[in-house]
Amino acid sequence: QAKNQGRNNYQFFAPSMNESNMHRLELEHSLRRGLEKNEFTVHYQPQIDIPNNSIVGIEALLRWDHPQKGIISPAYFISIAEETGLIVPIGEQVLRYACLQNKEWQLSGLPPMRVAVNLSPRQFQQQNLVQVITDILQETGMEPHYLELEITESLAMHDVEFTIKTLNELRKMGITIAIDDFGTGYSSLSYLKRLPIDILKIDRYFIRDVTKDPGNEAIVDAIILLAHNLKLQVIAEGVETEEQLNYLRSKNCDLVQGYYFYKPLPVVGITNLLLNTFKK
Ligand code: C2E
Ligand code: MG
Ligand code: MG
Ligand code: MG
Repeated sequence: QAKNQGRNNYQFFAPSMNESNMHRLELEHSLRRGLEKNEFTVHYQPQIDIPNNSIVGIEALLRWDHPQKGIISPAYFISIAEETGLIVPIGEQVLRYACLQNKEWQLSGLPPMRVAVNLSPRQFQQQNLVQVITDILQETGMEPHYLELEITESLAMHDVEFTIKTLNELRKMGITIAIDDFGTGYSSLSYLKRLPIDILKIDRYFIRDVTKDPGNEAIVDAIILLAHNLKLQVIAEGVETEEQLNYLRSKNCDLVQGYYFYKPLPVVGITNLLLNTFKK
């Protein structure tokens, strides 16, 4: 995936270097500067409904448009952004951009669809999260019905009572909730059953070898059945081949996301794609 990110400089932000304190300070400093200079931006990846083969949602993915290093994936800075708390203002910006963009697409006459935004643990634990989201929706005019929030399994399980309370408030507003990277955390199934959620996203680690590794096949089958029995939708991430897609279709997976269809695209690219797809 690294080579698909374009002009990245992997030396500078190599994860192994994140371990040196020097580098961490340097990175923290440039994250702060990046925030001040508005260097954070969002790319968008379509989510496809398998039975209808149509785009029904879009995931917003944070990017750092660094003046020297080019476009940088969150993999290289998200953990430091999280530790320093900088993810809170950065994540708020992602939410604002995504809502504004989705509203713009709707105003341009495209069929309305959901935009999915990733929430970090730090953001989710903010006491005023619901208010922050309410304000952004109001400010951008985006209807909560077209917003989906993705949280990870580990985050959801961290303080289950708090999670349930917060998710209930968000869902009451009409927001859709997805559990991201499902299968990689430590979910207790008895808690999962209690979580007010709508969607499970199968981590791409399981999809990668789904047609070759019987173990992953068993896990993917089980997650799809679990989701459907809990009346949840299921999305497979990281679908790269037709073989994987056919497999997922045969197991009644609802939605897919992956390079086989589209890579995450910058605003202009995704907008053209949507216009070409829906306004022929
Ligand atoms: P994620 O939310 O699980 O997003 C899916 C990741 O898989 C994205 O990486 C996407 O570009 C990549 N991907 C999608 N399809 C394929 C495929 O077919 N093959 C492969 N190899 N990769 C695929 P990305 O954009 O680098 O984001 C990495 C992670 O960073 C995200 O994983 C998410 O956990 C986090 N992240 C991204 N944006 C935000 C954000 O705004 N806030 C927070 N807190 N985290 C974010
Ligand atoms: Mg996600
Ligand atoms: Mg994921
Ligand atoms: Mg992931």
